[in-house]
Amino acid sequence: MLYGLNGSTTDQCTLEEDVLVAEHAGYDVVELRTYKLEAFLKEHTLDDLTKLFERSSVKADAINAIEFFNLKQGEERAQVLKDTEKWCQIARAAGSSYIIAVPSPRPPDAADEEIVKDSVQMLQEMSDIAEKYQVNIALEFIGIQDFSVKTLEAARKIMNKVNRVNVGLVLDVFHFYTGGSSLDAIDDTPPEKIFVFHINDAEHARIEELEDKDRIFPGLGVIPLKEIGKRVQKTGQIRMVGLELFRPDYWEMEKYDLGEQSYRYVKEASDKMFV
Ligand code: ZN
Repeated sequence: MLYGLNGSTTDQCTLEEDVLVAEHAGYDVVELRTYKLEAFLKEHTLDDLTKLFERSSVKADAINAIEFFNLKQGEERAQVLKDTEKWCQIARAAGSSYIIAVPSPRPPDAADEEIVKDSVQMLQEMSDIAEKYQVNIALEFIGIQDFSVKTLEAARKIMNKVNRVNVGLVLDVFHFYTGGSSLDAIDDTPPEKIFVFHINDAEHARIEELEDKDRIFPGLGVIPLKEIGKRVQKTGQIRMVGLELFRPDYWEMEKYDLGEQSYRYVKEASDKMFV
């Protein structure tokens, strides 16, 4: 299993610094944020991006993310497909084979069937584009606020209907917890379809008040990580775990110190979850 550092955890770092910090701490991969890639590519070429990861022992993992890919019309819909092409090219240059797709907030009048139908159609079109680049699309359900795909159950239903080898899921334990996904839903999710596993924890149990900034190092919060891990483990081995936090206190930390500390928490939590 690969250990990953998501660029959102280290917001104080540039992409190049993320690679150095991850390497220093002992991570295997870096999950890429689109804003850091955009900043890098303002000053560098795709060839420089390839070289950055060729030079390092740390490899590029999932690009986070194509945001709000579903429930779009006309120009906006066409833009999502254009963005898919763009991020696939960037993923290939970085040596990554995964792009995360984040669903849109739920429009007040949207029916469940409409959300499923639209999401399936979009993901199939994105899958066709990604296939040309040998890239996989990972659908991430969002458990906070009222997002259109909120639970593992809902995401899995869409993935099954999409029915493509290169379309799978992100299981983010924070969204799993806040969105009210059930542990039983993990049993029916093949581990090879969990393309990306986001590890973290939630600071407190007042679910309706939780926001991304309340994510904390895994093991320090209230998410039943061991239970989740045990269920995942029962189905088989997952590919990777990536630490995805958005915590302003951590962004104040010295970057190498944050890298080292975070790696210890990830390793310790993973060892307990996936024994
Ligand atoms: Zn996530």
